[in-house]
Amino acid sequence: MAQSYDVIIVGARCAGSPTAALLARKGYRVLVVDRATFPSDTLSTHIVHPLAVAALARWGLLDRLEATGCPPIHTYAFDFGPFTLAGAPGTTDAPVAYCPRRTVLDKLLVDAAAEAGAEIREGFTVEDVLIEDGRVVGVKGRSKGTATVSERARIVVGADGRHSVVAAAVGPEQYHEKPPLLAPYYTYWSSLPMEGRFETYIRPHRGFAAAPTHDGLTLTVGGWPHAEFNANKQDVEGNFLQLFDLAPDFADRVRQAKREAPFTGAPTPNFFRRPFGPGWVLVGDAGYLKDPITAQGIQDAFRDAESCALALDESFTGARSFDDAMREYQRNRDEHALPMYEFTCQLATLDPPPPEMQQVFRAIYGNQTAMDAFAQMNAGTISPAEFGAIVAGPPQ
Ligand SMILES: Cc1cc2nc3c(=O)[nH]c(=O)nc-3n(C[C@H](O)[C@H](O)[C@H](O)COP(=O)(O)OP(=O)(O)OC[C@H]3O[C@@H](n4cnc5c(N)ncnc54)[C@H](O)[C@@H]3O)c2cc1C
Repeated sequence: MAQSYDVIIVGARCAGSPTAALLARKGYRVLVVDRATFPSDTLSTHIVHPLAVAALARWGLLDRLEATGCPPIHTYAFDFGPFTLAGAPGTTDAPVAYCPRRTVLDKLLVDAAAEAGAEIREGFTVEDVLIEDGRVVGVKGRSKGTATVSERARIVVGADGRHSVVAAAVGPEQYHEKPPLLAPYYTYWSSLPMEGRFETYIRPHRGFAAAPTHDGLTLTVGGWPHAEFNANKQDVEGNFLQLFDLAPDFADRVRQAKREAPFTGAPTPNFFRRPFGPGWVLVGDAGYLKDPITAQGIQDAFRDAESCALALDESFTGARSFDDAMREYQRNRDEHALPMYEFTCQLATLDPPPPEMQQVFRAIYGNQTAMDAFAQMNAGTISPAEFGAIVAGPPQ
């Protein structure tokens, strides 16, 4: 049977739609399917760090995001109790972060993919991945209330998130695995002004953060170690509200605010997957999942989209073999992601920072360059090693 498409992408959010847009802009025939329809929400908070904002700017979407009235975030503040490290998270070219609702962000991304020429099939659930002679050749699925159809492509991209049906079908090797470490929950408030700040409160075995989003609302996200997940899940609201009491000034601000949404959340396991094989590729959470405490998922999905689209183009044009291009994609992803992954998993334990790190934090308090570097490291703008080098100063 003839291939209808160069690429079928399963999943149309942060990883899928940008991958589709970048490939469609190069002239490839791209089909994107998602069981969701857009705009729609998904299980996720939505800090978009400055380097992800830079990607939106490269794709011509930053103006559109700004036009939605999403407030920019110029400062990340980390409150350790006795002191707060506050700094600028971005770069000169990409100075601010945003916290756009996924209803807004994901719709912008889907529309951009459609404008680029990708065919978008919303409300379409992939039920099966077609495999012939050990090679993925397409997908089988259906829109609600219609008969099952098969679609074929040279490559199927799994951008289908943490419960990826593509990954389940191909069974890729998983590595650097760690169990869920944190039980995170989030909700939204009105009358909780943030003045362009993303604030994080770190206490032993507890933590929470707040950021301004659309419609004058403020997102709060917080949690406790996964070991307490079962004990606390009967009373998420009570346990969540107690978090604020650990930071009395913030608790006072919350008393002036009104909660506008129920609590939502879920623990996340941590792993990398081999992201390619015959006829298939994984991007975003489908290929590399980690705790959301450092809010890297959207930024990583954007990075995967650019890097994967480049690698697929190289393989389609014959500049490199599929295996060579994809090995490079995996190597780049892993080299870039691993230090932040280790940092994220350490933070997600909510164990107090080791004494030597606490000493570093105390030492940089008041040093704006170092506090900016701390904010940049937490944003993923610089690596933990680069932060270490800035704090250590030039070699003597
Ligand atoms: C509690 C929580 C808080 C988070 N906070 C942040 C944050 O502040 N900042 C940040 O950067 N990241 C955050 N993340 C992570 C972020 O949500 C993910 O990394 C990001 O959504 C990954 O994008 P994706 O496109 O890979 O997958 P997803 O956003 O999960 O999209 C996958 C898509 O695939 C579709 N799909 C799945 N299966 C099928 C199927 N069989 N057929 C058709 N369609 C299918 C789904 O409908 C979905 O639309 C958080 C995650 C959680 C759980």
